[in-house]
Amino acid sequence: MRTKALRVVLLLTLLLSWSVRASASEALSLAEFGKKHQVLVSFDPLTACGQMEQRGVFVSFAAGKPYMILDWRTLRKVEAPYWDQGALMLPAGFVDEAGKYFSERNAPKKEAYSVATILIDPGHGGKDSGAIATVDGAQLMEKTLTLEVSRRVADLLRSRYPERKIITTRDDDSFPSLEDRVAMANSAGLGMKETVIYVSIHANASFNKNAKGYEVWYLNPEYRRTVVDAETVKEKGSDIAPILNAMLEEEFTTESIILARKVYDRLGLSIGASSPGRGIRAEEWFVVRNAKMPSILIEMGFITHPEEGRLLATSSYLRKIGDAIYNGIVDFIEHFEN
Ligand SMILES: [Zn+2]
Repeated sequence: MRTKALRVVLLLTLLLSWSVRASASEALSLAEFGKKHQVLVSFDPLTACGQMEQRGVFVSFAAGKPYMILDWRTLRKVEAPYWDQGALMLPAGFVDEAGKYFSERNAPKKEAYSVATILIDPGHGGKDSGAIATVDGAQLMEKTLTLEVSRRVADLLRSRYPERKIITTRDDDSFPSLEDRVAMANSAGLGMKETVIYVSIHANASFNKNAKGYEVWYLNPEYRRTVVDAETVKEKGSDIAPILNAMLEEEFTTESIILARKVYDRLGLSIGASSPGRGIRAEEWFVVRNAKMPSILIEMGFITHPEEGRLLATSSYLRKIGDAIYNGIVDFIEHFEN
């Protein structure tokens, strides 16, 4: 029973492969093959040997010999090239094999996702000061710190990645609403394989004067977002949207965690000696959960802590934080694009 079934399968396989073979190609002259497959061809009449080359991929052959050599290494049996009315002809089997080899070896690499846009969001601004504390008699406002750090991060990113879009949600002491920020984040024009990363920068405050340290938040994976836009739904049908959403969300959540980790690690290297890491956390922040992209929110320290507040009031410390965030983003991009 099994043998018989196996024979039928074998026969079918043979028939199928034969019919594919028979229908695929016909004999071509060497010159015709070169033109059709955009391959450089050469033939030496003295040795009766020839070569084909396409972007560093080589096939060698000889007139009257039933094989070809692929990239100087692999010998493959094929129908032999033959002469016909002064032209060197490549039989159908030869044309098939060589054509297949070139197209496989030179197939365009699968395009990876790239980070096309980086959106830096300095928390608060304008009428919204964010957290406020008094440090050495001077008032320290969260919105000022976040702007200074964001400018540093954006400047560094712009000089490293001149070809990418580096956007800040505000560049001065203005107040874009949370909805504005989300809209800015989601409106970044993207190609098929492009993505945006979103980094919101904040400073912390607490009634507990002992609270200190930095933390990085990412989106809570339990939270269901609508990642797929209306156009996709129109195109693919509404029943597939939840599936696409779940798949994309999984990916974006993972990427958010990785982004959070990279920035958190860099903050540790940069300011870990003076500020404790309070961990990577998951939360349903408004800004983060409505942004259709890998997103994090950084709390760079407590302005209410006597020593940390004093550090956060100095430009050199804010520069260290900016450098750390920048390096974390670079680490993430390198991970994401490889
Ligand atoms: Zn804040």
